[in-house]
Amino acid sequence: MIQRHSPARIEEMRAVGAFVGSVLSALESAAKPGVSLVELDALAHDMIRQAGATSCYIDYHPSFGGSPFGKVLCTSVNDAALHGLPYDYDLQSGDLLSLDFAVNLGGWVADSAVSLIVGTPATAEDQRLIDVCEEALEAGIAAAVAGNRLGDISHAIGAVAKAHGFEVNTDFGGHGVGRTMHENPSIPNDGMPGQGPKLQPGMVFAIEPWLMHTTSEIFTDTDGWTLRSIDGSRAAHVEHTVVVTKDGPLVLTAR
Ligand code: MG
Repeated sequence: MIQRHSPARIEEMRAVGAFVGSVLSALESAAKPGVSLVELDALAHDMIRQAGATSCYIDYHPSFGGSPFGKVLCTSVNDAALHGLPYDYDLQSGDLLSLDFAVNLGGWVADSAVSLIVGTPATAEDQRLIDVCEEALEAGIAAAVAGNRLGDISHAIGAVAKAHGFEVNTDFGGHGVGRTMHENPSIPNDGMPGQGPKLQPGMVFAIEPWLMHTTSEIFTDTDGWTLRSIDGSRAAHVEHTVVVTKDGPLVLTAR
């Protein structure tokens, strides 16, 4: 079953969405050459404490994780695609960094991710990878319309990726979000249009395309968490928390 929330509850969710967006904006500004991944995590942790929020990541220990995550931020650098566990690494100019962040504030969760290039781009292809992810996210959001089917979101994302020549991994994708970080349904980043549950006002989804330059296969780093491309090619990942409303999609985590 997919939870539906009243307009009053959606109004309550705006605070956590705005907070998650503001933290990612601050982290984007802070992600300069010489700054370490642990420092970015500490900055996010400070902002969580000041806001009275609760991290969704720090105690998170699903079956695919090697141990409780222990940090409040995912920092995926270069060939790391998802779930990057922050470690003592100083960012270098040209790194492709993806930041994924989710917290609970006031009883509601929002989840969002951004990709950026630190300093000067190493290649134009890295920016193109980010741009295609963002275009796929926009397409997925545009399909989050009452009366559509869940598969329309998946198809919209996958169609953009494939039109630009990228392979899509459907093992990890979007999800429902609300009182907790991961709720029904799961939203693969490719699928059949017109299939799946009908979208209705009050449903809240984390929509999150991610792509790698030359593969769709990943492996888990020895840290037990970080998912890396099998061929070493770089990855990008973007995400917003989006509400289906009677007036169209509402992005809660806009920056
Ligand atoms: Mg996320």
